[in-house]
Amino acid sequence: MTQPRVDDLLRRLLVQCSPEQAATAGDIAARYRAGLVLTGAKPRNTVRHLRRTGYDGPLLCDASRYAGNYPLRAGAGLRRAWTAEQHELGLVALTDSGYLAPGDWPGLHRLLADARGHPAPLLVSLPLGAGWFAVPAWIDRLVATLNSARLPVAITIVGDSFATRYVTRGLVRLLSVTVPVVLLRSDIGALGAVCHGAHAGALATTSGLFVPALLGHHRPAVLARIVARTPDLSGRWPCDCPECDGTVPTDLPPDGIYRHSLHAQLSLGDRLLAPRHDVSAMTRSWRVHCDQALSLHEEIAGLMPPWPVPTALRWWLDAQPPAVGAAVPQQNAYVTRPRPRIDRRAP
Ligand SMILES: [Zn+2]
Repeated sequence: MTQPRVDDLLRRLLVQCSPEQAATAGDIAARYRAGLVLTGAKPRNTVRHLRRTGYDGPLLCDASRYAGNYPLRAGAGLRRAWTAEQHELGLVALTDSGYLAPGDWPGLHRLLADARGHPAPLLVSLPLGAGWFAVPAWIDRLVATLNSARLPVAITIVGDSFATRYVTRGLVRLLSVTVPVVLLRSDIGALGAVCHGAHAGALATTSGLFVPALLGHHRPAVLARIVARTPDLSGRWPCDCPECDGTVPTDLPPDGIYRHSLHAQLSLGDRLLAPRHDVSAMTRSWRVHCDQALSLHEEIAGLMPPWPVPTALRWWLDAQPPAVGAAVPQQNAYVTRPRPRIDRRAP
């Protein structure tokens, strides 16, 4: 087996799943330029099973010690045995870091110091409380700290989602770092992050039906109601994935919903992401998709009040990316702007 590299993950969507979902997720991920993240404390048997059954794509293991009822704190440091086991399994090692509460700088420095003593290939897991993103000065200090540590990292935003404006803006600002940043445990926002310069991003949503035209997950019954109430929009809902085969995915069984949602997100990923694309072209593509989805939500809201237009799409349009690799400006990523006009022709 060739030595795994962090670069193998470049500009890929990953499917983050439990060991129970791994066979299905691996089978689907293998059909796209995608990879897998297994969540759980004991991934060894699942990794071996995946490899034995022919899955040869990128694979990471998230020990998830930062989650659950009694999350471990980052200050507890890293276990060498976990890193060694990942390498023994032929993987890039994602460290088994504990939770980084907002402003826990000693915890961050402990993780980076421990990671410096572990062999490559390594991704330092940084499970960041969402509060980190509320303070622009913390993001700037985080960028400076990560730039000088020169270690590739994988961040998980704990306890919040892209529905919060400051998280999206802070993340876009954080992505000006010069080291690779993988975003774990996200939703379709993972694709937004990669389009803004993240190294890779993991889709972890397991409930709901992904509706590509709306760029989000909805209950099948909600999609059925939209279809019934908006006959003029009927061309927007049929799906060409292997699960739907050109039909509207309102009657799939639960496992079919999961498979459809992965197909739909990963095929969108394959359309938007490529190693040779430059980040500004991918950012433009993502913003066009957000803008189109937002317009469709607004149209539905007009026909089916009080339809909630998802704010997460707006935050992506508001967030102004700093130039990648450039010095982070002091303010401009945090200035509220009117919704920009976007050229609707997808590049
Ligand atoms: Zn489908």
